[in-house]
Amino acid sequence: MTDESTLERGGCLCGEVHYTFPRTDVLSAHHCHCKDCQKSTGSGKATILFIPVESLNLIGELKTFTVVGSEGSHVTRGFCGNCGSPLISYVAEMPAIKFIKVGSLDDSSWVEITSSYWQKTAMGWSPVDDTHPAFAGNPEA
Ligand SMILES: [Zn+2]
Ligand SMILES: [Zn+2]
Repeated sequence: MTDESTLERGGCLCGEVHYTFPRTDVLSAHHCHCKDCQKSTGSGKATILFIPVESLNLIGELKTFTVVGSEGSHVTRGFCGNCGSPLISYVAEMPAIKFIKVGSLDDSSWVEITSSYWQKTAMGWSPVDDTHPAFAGNPEA
């Protein structure tokens, strides 16, 4: 049962792809400073929400691009094929969870970061936030 009052919405810049999820289902939120996140966002880091697959309702179609990540996992990044906004990614080896790019939320003011990943590739112009725990690379499973 979904409580409408906590339903969060987000989507791409052109409006072709959007999504909803209950805020109460969010597992955690993270900054990732890995090189792939820097490349795919054109920024110093990606900021992502972890959400159970079944909690996410996607409206529209994502284009995807898959790479083999640092530890052999298969990372698929989903983006709008029209405007290119990065929206949702997932890892084949973690099928129960999807990752939402926090900047794509209509209102992300409530998000609280749990921890940062890939401190070792963070750039000086986009430093790791020291108000929460940071991992040198991926967190230990
Ligand atoms: Zn779009
Ligand atoms: Zn990353």
